[in-house]
Amino acid sequence: MTPLDAYSPDYKTARVRFRSLIAERGWDAEAIPIDVPGYAPDDLTIDVARVGSPNAERLLVLTSGLHGAEGLFGSAVQLAWLASLPRHWEPPAGFAVLLIHALNPHGVAEVHRANEDNVDLNRNFLSEDEFARLRETTARDYGPFDGYLNPACSPSRIDWFPPLFLWMALRYGFGTLQRILPAGQYEFSKGIFHGGSALAQSTKIVMNEMPRWVGAARFVIHFDYHTGLGKFGDFKLLASDPAGSKQVNLARRLFGDLVVPDHETEGGYHNFGDMGEWLSRRFADLNYLYLCAEFGTYGSTRVIGTLRRDNQARHWTPPESPLRAMTRAEMLEVFVPSSHGWRWAVVQKSVRLIQSSLTLCAEWGNGDE
Ligand SMILES: [Zn+2]
Repeated sequence: MTPLDAYSPDYKTARVRFRSLIAERGWDAEAIPIDVPGYAPDDLTIDVARVGSPNAERLLVLTSGLHGAEGLFGSAVQLAWLASLPRHWEPPAGFAVLLIHALNPHGVAEVHRANEDNVDLNRNFLSEDEFARLRETTARDYGPFDGYLNPACSPSRIDWFPPLFLWMALRYGFGTLQRILPAGQYEFSKGIFHGGSALAQSTKIVMNEMPRWVGAARFVIHFDYHTGLGKFGDFKLLASDPAGSKQVNLARRLFGDLVVPDHETEGGYHNFGDMGEWLSRRFADLNYLYLCAEFGTYGSTRVIGTLRRDNQARHWTPPESPLRAMTRAEMLEVFVPSSHGWRWAVVQKSVRLIQSSLTLCAEWGNGDE
């Protein structure tokens, strides 16, 4: 399979290919359904394969599609890595690999960032108290921008967001926009970056099942695949912990300058309810190293503008309108660019990183932990 062949045209095809690559090797998988009105029970599933001994001390975790529209890229990485393995490959003794395909299957299927309830899952890993507290603070911070970001009408054919965004940046400061907009908001349920008011189905599944999937592992490296931030075709490993923390020091030792500590992401924003932050806290007694593998596509004005248009279409455009197909195509281009150069490079880099991580994870902790 070449890196280009690893991309699937849609969610259903991606899932069939993931399942068959796992089955071909005689490995087990489970499919956890996500219940969405209008879909059959097994239409939308999170597919999970844990390969290797249940008692393995070392675990590599590869997750895709937390943001739906980015999912066909994450899926391509998983498929390309599986296809790259020698025929009778099994994880070395003491080692296991956990693959989670399409954490937000509705988002992957419909090419939306958010889930079936317009919840941005990477803003949703919170406690009840945190939801209540953030509802107040983000209503205040994000409130002034709601009207600009989430107009209650169908998108127009021409995208007026670039000049509008420029005007917003002049009025409020570009730094303020970059800090507040993507951080997550808990008040405007039809808005972009909405983190929800309670735990989403996918979030509950991760929270409930991860302890079982992690099993006896003591050393875990987790790559969660994302796109849309950074230089075209380039990638960074975004940590959920700040500079100087044990996690970041370790990540830097393993992956060098690829690692970006929390708060140092482009623009310096910190997002609430981050899956990685929750995992680091939940598994604080282990060495759980979560890294968001973030691959750049287009500039932030185009990315936010496209999310905005897609969200408008989702809420205010009839399903049969050609505008829906148009925004869907725009989303796909922004989060999984059609450029062969981009597609080839990002999958190739990802597979190499997984290969080197298997070695690093196997050596990590020997003699110094
Ligand atoms: Zn993402």
